[in-house]
Amino acid sequence: MKTHKPADQIQDLQYFGEFGGVNPSISDSSTYTFLSAKTMFDTFEGNAEGCYLYSRHSTPSNLYLGQALAAMENSEAANVTASGMGAITSVLLQLCQSGDEIVSSRTIYGGTYAFMKNFLPKLNIQTQFVDITKIDKVEASITENTKVIYCETISNPLLEIADIQELAKLSKKHNLKLVVDNTFSPFIVSPIDLGADVVIHSLTKFINGSSDAVGGVICGTQEFIDDLRNVNNGACMLLGPTMDSLRSASILKNLRTLHIRMKQHSKNAEYLAQAFQKDGLKVVYPGLENHSGHLAMKNLYNAEYGFGGMMTIDVGSLDKANALMELMQMKNLGYLAVSLGFYKTLFSAPGTSTSSEIPVEEQKEMGLSDGLIRFSIGLDNDIERTYQKMKECMIELNIL
Ligand SMILES: *Cc1c(COP(=O)(O)O)cnc(C)c1O
Repeated sequence: MKTHKPADQIQDLQYFGEFGGVNPSISDSSTYTFLSAKTMFDTFEGNAEGCYLYSRHSTPSNLYLGQALAAMENSEAANVTASGMGAITSVLLQLCQSGDEIVSSRTIYGGTYAFMKNFLPKLNIQTQFVDITKIDKVEASITENTKVIYCETISNPLLEIADIQELAKLSKKHNLKLVVDNTFSPFIVSPIDLGADVVIHSLTKFINGSSDAVGGVICGTQEFIDDLRNVNNGACMLLGPTMDSLRSASILKNLRTLHIRMKQHSKNAEYLAQAFQKDGLKVVYPGLENHSGHLAMKNLYNAEYGFGGMMTIDVGSLDKANALMELMQMKNLGYLAVSLGFYKTLFSAPGTSTSSEIPVEEQKEMGLSDGLIRFSIGLDNDIERTYQKMKECMIELNIL
């Protein structure tokens, strides 16, 4: 389903610094001068293209990063935010008002789940959580109040694949907005090309890739991005999830190597998934033929980037999972840490960490078991060597 080349589109953008620098200058200012009072008025009204007003609204550095991410997602425009949650909450609050409903995948990032489940009802916005892989169930949950279908391309932490093309057809049929969190699969899947209306990323993960920054982005139509920044009623303007210019400049530099990193994350994860499956472990990885979303993924993905860097292994019990993670950390195979997309492998037990917002009974129902370990596979140069060392840990703990 390759309709554009995201890495090439980013590469074709060219920015220079103020003194001919090869990186754009950082705009280290919160406010901007105007030569005429009239232009200031026009800028407030949103009618002065290319003028900056105040940095909560926009900054040159944030616009550069936004442009590059819009090129990556093939969207008309993008707005960067201070975090992934800043992007998610702003989008949902912009699209929904009191009385509206959301139909959401039930396997989503814990923070997003908590926001929909615990926070939005305070504003009389209700969410129906569904198995997003069952299109008929999704459709059955749509009511006359539904405004948004929400999903993650590759879901956290169960790695279910949302069939974005089918969901897009459904959302068009019912006049809804399809909002896709593409954090696990930058470059791998291009949701806008497949019919999504809005794409969100946590830049904190693969896109920045060095676990030193928090950030987010919203990609969508120029009209939607303008709405978000509107001084009178825009969520990004009024809720204040503004990214700092110094940070957006640093994330833009890391974005330059994302295509290379994604290929290596995918290559390493695929190797480990295949090998551990052969060893008889319960491995979940979208690149495995027995994965429930394998065919859907092959329909959606940009093949050169593989099936992503995320993998889970169920080792049977929480005690075993904890022992294995501690031993792997001791052997320097990775870190026992939440988050993902780092050069080093990161692992955590989602039931007791990143998905702990989800009640235990609901975790069971969706197949999130106690012994599940979520791996974000790193950029290891020799993955065969890593595999052997991980295997030694598993043998020592009677997991293999
Ligand atoms: C981490 C994450 C988020 C939240 O992003 P922050 O930058 O931590 O606010 C949202 N969605 C997914 C899939 C994530 O992994």
